[in-house]
Amino acid sequence: MNIPIIDLHSHSNISDGLLTPADLMFHAAENNVQAIALTDHDDIAGLEEASHAAKKLNIIFINGVEISVTWNKRTLHIVGLNFDKDDKPLFEGLKKIRDGRLKRAQLMSDSLGMAGIQGAFDGAKSYAKSSTIGRIHFAQFLVAQGYAKNIGAVFKKFLTPGKPGYVDHEWISLEESITLINGAGGDAIIAHPGRYDMGSKLYPRLFQEFKDLGGAGIEVMSGSQDPSQANYFSKLAESFDLFSSCGSDFHGKGISHRALGNISQLPDNSIPIWTKWENIKKLFH
Ligand code: AMP
Ligand code: MN
Ligand code: MN
Ligand code: MN
Repeated sequence: MNIPIIDLHSHSNISDGLLTPADLMFHAAENNVQAIALTDHDDIAGLEEASHAAKKLNIIFINGVEISVTWNKRTLHIVGLNFDKDDKPLFEGLKKIRDGRLKRAQLMSDSLGMAGIQGAFDGAKSYAKSSTIGRIHFAQFLVAQGYAKNIGAVFKKFLTPGKPGYVDHEWISLEESITLINGAGGDAIIAHPGRYDMGSKLYPRLFQEFKDLGGAGIEVMSGSQDPSQANYFSKLAESFDLFSSCGSDFHGKGISHRALGNISQLPDNSIPIWTKWENIKKLFH
């Protein structure tokens, strides 16, 4: 049997991806993806368009979002999956985060201004389709202006801690993010844990707290982390009784680490999050 291709982490131009939600689904079909979640940063405005397109293409669509969270002075990303997209508190909570993004963007622009780069707010905004303005939009502006040769270089030079375009920002708490996701009937997943570089003491602390707060799973396989970390995280997931998830974290050609749907299989001991979901479970019969 061919293993179904399931990608539970992807971005459209509603946040910092390049493709429209519908075009992302066409691309998923091109890559033989059978089930997909659209997980834009702090925004669910693309779900309706994407789910319609996916339906026509015979792809199973899972509602998703990637919520920005501050935990222990660090930024974490919590993916919400399979929730009711019409849930009011979720809508309001995400709007609050996007308002914070706008304020942060103004401060980033001020900070770049002090470093001699003018007009960054308007410049970044011209790349952001919705109110979900983020660092990638600044990166696109800075590359277009010739301040760095590509997106990777621009993050290193301007958009990471200690650099002129980076400002600290307080996102919502881990608890708030899980409450929003669970309140809408969804499952909360720690996105790309390998990116946080927390060490062998802090990871278990995060997973324990996440589990106690009602978190469901962790991204054992992610396009944003080294595939060699999968075994480490699948064992941790097992020991904290958490499900496993996998996603490419595709953003678009040129800014994404991996191709859409290009995810290796989860390790054997993993219990995939979709074992909770009837629609994806059917793919395995
Ligand atoms: P933000 O949520 O606005 O702080 O932006 C975070 C996003 O920036 C991530 O989701 C990635 O899409 C992107 N990003 C972060 N670091 C890098 C990097 N080094 N190179 C390319 N994109 C990055
Ligand atoms: Mn992103
Ligand atoms: Mn992320
Ligand atoms: Mn992502």
